[in-house]
Amino acid sequence: MKDSLFEPDRESDFDQLKEKVLSCSRCDLSHTRNNVIFGEGNRDAAIMIIGEGPGRDEDLQGRPFVGKSGQLLDRILEACGFTRQKHVFISNIVKCRPPDNRVPTPAEAEMCMPWLLNQIELIDPGIIILLGSTALKFMAGSDYRITRDRGQWISCQGRLTMPVYHPAALLRDPSLKRDTWEDFKKIVWKYRETYDQKHHSAHV
Ligand code: SF4
Repeated sequence: MKDSLFEPDRESDFDQLKEKVLSCSRCDLSHTRNNVIFGEGNRDAAIMIIGEGPGRDEDLQGRPFVGKSGQLLDRILEACGFTRQKHVFISNIVKCRPPDNRVPTPAEAEMCMPWLLNQIELIDPGIIILLGSTALKFMAGSDYRITRDRGQWISCQGRLTMPVYHPAALLRDPSLKRDTWEDFKKIVWKYRETYDQKHHSAHV
């Protein structure tokens, strides 16, 4: 049996991780960023949401998903009965904004990935939501396709993982909203089954 004195201290590990990430200069995105976007939400969240990378608003404000995409994500979460404070932790494949919101390069994603894997290990979510093709590709592998694999439970880092369209895609093409809502309903059902049978959602 482990001596409790040697149990890792999650809170302090999390703070230390955050400190390291906020001062990271592993890749060239560190030269053009205003802020490193560590992530936001409950450190004990059952659900971890992973997007592609910060955009302009996020880079300026230092918080994930605060622009139009983020506001849409918040509305979807609200419809599911989820909040950033209690149910989810939101992070990205890369923690610094790629210039002109371009897709992160494989090298940038690779340099940043250890931070994300550390976050997953410490938060220990039972459910991961991958927002869009970039998150799906870098987390699950390049064989996956968002158009084909969204809405299906897959395994990532040994955890139940649901790929869904990125909110930015829904803003570009509102016809994707219907499928996305079906996908989020599956997440609510799984959350109820796994964590809280009484979880309230006005719409699911
Ligand atoms: S994107 Fe990631 S690896 Fe690159 S500087 Fe930012 S935190 Fe570091």
